[in-house]
Amino acid sequence: MEFLTSPSQKFDLPKPIARLSELATNMWWTWHPEAARLFGRLDYDLWERLGHNPIRLLKEIDKEKLNQSAKDKEYLSLYDSLFKTFDSYFKQKTWTQKTHPELKNPIAYFSMEFGLHETLPIYSGGLGVLAGDHLKEASDLGLPLIGVGFMYAQGYFSQRISEHGWQEALNNPLNFEHLPVSLVTKNNQPVIIEFKFPDRTLHAQIWEVRVGRIPLYLLDSNVPNNNEYDRLLTARLYWSDLDRRVMQEILLGIGGARALRALGYDPAVWHMNEGHASFLTLERIRELVTSGLTFDQATEQTCAQNVFTTHTPVPAGNDEFPLWLIDKYLSSYWGELGLTREQFVDVAKHQQAHVETYSMPILALKLSNGRNGVSELHGEVSRDMWKFLWNDKNVKDVPIDHVTNGVHTRNWLARRMNLLLEKYLGADWYENLDDHELMQKINAIPDAELWGTHLHLKRKLAFYLKERVRDRWTHGGFHPVQVVSSGVLINPYALTIGFARRFATYKRASLVLSQVERLLEIINRPNMPVQIIFAGKAHPADDPGKQLIQKVYQTVKKAETGGRIVFVEDYEMNLARYLVQGVDVWLNTPRRPYEASGTSGMKAAINGVLNFSIMDGWWREAYNGKNGWSIGEDKEYEATDVQDVADAEDLYHKLEHEIIPMYYNRDPKEMSAEWIGRMKNAMQTVIPQFSTRRMVKEYVEKFYTKANGKS
Ligand SMILES: *Cc1c(COP(=O)(O)O)cnc(C)c1O
Repeated sequence: MEFLTSPSQKFDLPKPIARLSELATNMWWTWHPEAARLFGRLDYDLWERLGHNPIRLLKEIDKEKLNQSAKDKEYLSLYDSLFKTFDSYFKQKTWTQKTHPELKNPIAYFSMEFGLHETLPIYSGGLGVLAGDHLKEASDLGLPLIGVGFMYAQGYFSQRISEHGWQEALNNPLNFEHLPVSLVTKNNQPVIIEFKFPDRTLHAQIWEVRVGRIPLYLLDSNVPNNNEYDRLLTARLYWSDLDRRVMQEILLGIGGARALRALGYDPAVWHMNEGHASFLTLERIRELVTSGLTFDQATEQTCAQNVFTTHTPVPAGNDEFPLWLIDKYLSSYWGELGLTREQFVDVAKHQQAHVETYSMPILALKLSNGRNGVSELHGEVSRDMWKFLWNDKNVKDVPIDHVTNGVHTRNWLARRMNLLLEKYLGADWYENLDDHELMQKINAIPDAELWGTHLHLKRKLAFYLKERVRDRWTHGGFHPVQVVSSGVLINPYALTIGFARRFATYKRASLVLSQVERLLEIINRPNMPVQIIFAGKAHPADDPGKQLIQKVYQTVKKAETGGRIVFVEDYEMNLARYLVQGVDVWLNTPRRPYEASGTSGMKAAINGVLNFSIMDGWWREAYNGKNGWSIGEDKEYEATDVQDVADAEDLYHKLEHEIIPMYYNRDPKEMSAEWIGRMKNAMQTVIPQFSTRRMVKEYVEKFYTKANGKS
């Protein structure tokens, strides 16, 4: 191929361990914990201090340490065995080759964010982590998928919580030299794509990240040809100012499609992860109109290849633009589609009372034949919400399907838990992780081994929280109250509840705090202590979200909590990993039906952590009475205040009368057989069903093969 990605990374490594550079520059290592260990063992302190960044580690480590490892027999044997796994991963025949050899043409997957690892902070939350997990699974299955997104110059912000509970956002420029990205070049020049606004041309260069077998292309507007304003376009995720928002989405959809063309790709499937990329549908039509087709002919040809996944269960959450903005940035575009302004606007028009807007989900829904929500209930909600686009149909016949989300198992499963499963399910269990029968063998794991592994993970979490606090305390400016509030008093042997997610108001973080006196009495009972760990960011422009954090923090600061209710700053994938692997109970209290799916609870369940959640999104499908607990009922409420009170009552009641007594009902070996039984049930039911293995296969069967056949 004539395109090169310039290797921006140069390493000077001793010969026997020289291939560590290959490992550091392919994100494959992020979902193979043994690979991460190989880096960690070189210099554990430095590895932690650099936030698990292998590129920096290899560049900054003391040369003497490298030389020592290069001579250490034990290290070299780990190295050899790891590279055996690495090489066979890329050589072995894949699921796609065996099951769908016809899937040869690329599947383009567009997303505003990708959560692959904490060192590449180009994600804000669940949407991005889902996209990252989708790529990792596509790599495992051997799908010819290509990701398209943004390389944000500053990444998503880091969160600090002031002594008064107010969220502060830190935006630091990322140093691309420290990241596994390479600039895409041709003849030694960056490949640049363009889009013409009425008054100027926007340019972007392209970075490539290797995710196992999958290339991920990331657009970056920080190039000399752009004016200062446009250079900042890809500096951050989700600008609040609408001008930048629409420009970003033009760049993602249209620019992303142009980038794939510039790289020589002709995808057979175009998958939009949420409506931010919807403009790609128009760009594909434009290509055909340029070659002589009418708009309608081009629409018919392209729709069959488009797949649109919606994640939004509320009309207000959808991306819509005022028409004047569409005029401002796209008025020289609709002519190229052979359309008048009115016809162009009509395609995506959302008419509500007297206001007309340009709706990104409507654009995607109308120009894609594949459409889906992300859980069964969300499918229903979506059909109801978009029924007006199909006026001749009954709600149940609205052509929006659902594919329930999943998580990438190896990415989220604790290394120790994986070893335990290898021992009792077979060394190759991972190949068949979506086999429900195989999961029955989890019953054979001795209680003491499962509990021992779980306790180990709880101690790791408590240790990790302390180390984070030590770091903040050492650097100064951290008040003792913040030290306690960040979890230094966490006891690894007490019942521990985790609540970590974006602080959006519908997620109702403060529901569990709605009766503080009652809660304090519950958590402080002698011999039955209970702890709650909160974490999560609010969008920097979301003041109600920030006020919610503050409200939680006010309770956290009370001395009466005994340091048992804590808020940990800066929720990101690393903290998420410790939490979902190291707490006992995962609490989720969204206002039904606003949690389209949710995924963090899946990460928890595969590690034997029990969900205690509203009957919404994925949990409504997973809950079976024995693998965790429900909160509230599977029904619609007339008023939100009634719903909030009822849910809180159910939450406290079950916590007091079921969860705490079961946890502390110990046998002479200090274990609760009933609890461990539930842990096994959770793992058995959630690992196979709520995995990206099941999810990506479902996308293949429902959408990718169909779209591919029509190419
Ligand atoms: C999994 C994950 C999320 C999404 O969690 P939800 O349960 O869907 O809210 C958000 N942020 C991070 C860092 C995650 O790992």
